[in-house]
Amino acid sequence: MNIFTDAQLRNLFNSVRSTLRDMTEAGGRNVTRDLFGNSGGYVTKLSKNNKLLICPECGGAVTKEAYLGGSVYYCRECQEL
Ligand SMILES: [Zn+2]
Repeated sequence: MNIFTDAQLRNLFNSVRSTLRDMTEAGGRNVTRDLFGNSGGYVTKLSKNNKLLICPECGGAVTKEAYLGGSVYYCRECQEL
């Protein structure tokens, strides 16, 4: 049993695909470097560079959690679990 509707799954898939395309076309994220030491051009919305950890959508506090050896950032108000 899915917790998402088909429309929600389609929307999530399209969002992930377009974000990954944007990152690739920009040469990667601005918080990482390539093999030659160059930062990528994709500006992340929530990352270690967002020092205040404020959600750009609602202005609420952003939660940072460890995930698979890295960190994930999300807003509990805008991004329901
Ligand atoms: Zn938010």
